[in-house]
Amino acid sequence: MNIEKKNIEICDVAPRDGLQSQSRMWSPDERIKLINKLSESGVSRIEAVSFVNPKIVPQMADAELIMQEIDRNKNVDYVGLALNLRGVTRALEAGVDEVRFVVVATETFNQKNQGVSIETTMAGYREIAGEVIQSKKKLSGVIGAAFGCPFEGNVIPEKIVELSKQFSDMGAKEISLADTIGAAVPTQVSELIKIVGSKISGEICLGVHLHNTRNTGFANAAAAALSGVTYMDASVGGIGGCPFAPRATGNIATEDLCFMLRNMGFETGVKLEELLSVAEWTQDFFEIPLPGQVMKAGLFPEVANQKA
Ligand code: ZN
Repeated sequence: MNIEKKNIEICDVAPRDGLQSQSRMWSPDERIKLINKLSESGVSRIEAVSFVNPKIVPQMADAELIMQEIDRNKNVDYVGLALNLRGVTRALEAGVDEVRFVVVATETFNQKNQGVSIETTMAGYREIAGEVIQSKKKLSGVIGAAFGCPFEGNVIPEKIVELSKQFSDMGAKEISLADTIGAAVPTQVSELIKIVGSKISGEICLGVHLHNTRNTGFANAAAAALSGVTYMDASVGGIGGCPFAPRATGNIATEDLCFMLRNMGFETGVKLEELLSVAEWTQDFFEIPLPGQVMKAGLFPEVANQKA
């Protein structure tokens, strides 16, 4: 199979997925700095905030303040997560460029994440999708635990196809298949992308959101890239987790992903040196080494040219 090498858009989710389960609460000022630094690194999208109830996810409080105070870079789309009408209203008022709806592929996990059934979640989104589209903002859908659930185990592809179609019908332009708990393997990733891609409109972009919980995250990203996804989520330094999934660990590190994609011949638009300096800046907030490896090893072949 001859896969044409092409652009893959990168969305850095560190300010949202990366920080939402950290035990040390990042101050609004620190979150604004992180977003501003990322916006200078060439990533074209940043998942900046989540419009959830701060009583449930206190790490994501002050979303409006964050959106108001960041230095908006016109080359960057700022993404906000919304789980209900109140979230959507807040997101649109706060001026996000893209609203992401999230549903989890299994009943048990969706109930824990959203507090309601999958059917109720999707019915709610159907009612409010029009608000996003009317305001000319991009709507996208994220399907959590698309490759496996910590409570129910394997997830059948038909379920993902069904949810993808529902998102597509309500006007979503993109669909992310999220390996929330890092359970996927590369063959599964390629297969699911192929199945979903063949069942939804060709105008809908498919992307992946990968966690490296079982060290398959980068192999999965390579599989996704070669299967034709147009965008990928990752978090600088590899920070992250999920407050509702037991033992969830970080997203794949953005700088490691961009390094791998670059050396595979894909274009991400990311300035790797600058992104590495954001990773190093982020590291200073943590007592243990972050999962990102390229910031420890250096870029290749660049390191070969440096005098020891
Ligand atoms: Zn995640």
